[in-house]
Amino acid sequence: MQFKIKVKNSDGTIHWEKYDKPELHTEAQVQQWAVDTIRRFNADLRPGELRREIIRVWTFGDSQEHTWDKLSLVTEPGGFDRMQCRKCGITGKRYGLGQSGVQLDKEFQKKRYIKCIGHLWKHLVMRVSA
Ligand SMILES: [Zn+2]
Repeated sequence: MQFKIKVKNSDGTIHWEKYDKPELHTEAQVQQWAVDTIRRFNADLRPGELRREIIRVWTFGDSQEHTWDKLSLVTEPGGFDRMQCRKCGITGKRYGLGQSGVQLDKEFQKKRYIKCIGHLWKHLVMRVSA
């Protein structure tokens, strides 16, 4: 889910925080995540940081992040796992522990695959192969 949180700082200033969290699927989950995140922030303030308060949470659409599932049962020779996005179906490789993310396979190394377009792509593939 993509969402933004309107936050009021303890000095009265207001700012926005924008997030894209593919693991959150409902507005209720987003609300809970926002409350937990701000609560955690307030519980662990560093010098100079202001307490925050949520004014409002807006959700606006499905996440544009790919949601990767591991296809390899064991790590492939070369030290990577084969990954596939469960939403749009594109594939890539994840090296090591995956700190640097998933490297998209050659046929998907185009700008339009950076963001996940969800089920639309899968739908097109189905129509082509039918
Ligand atoms: Zn995707």
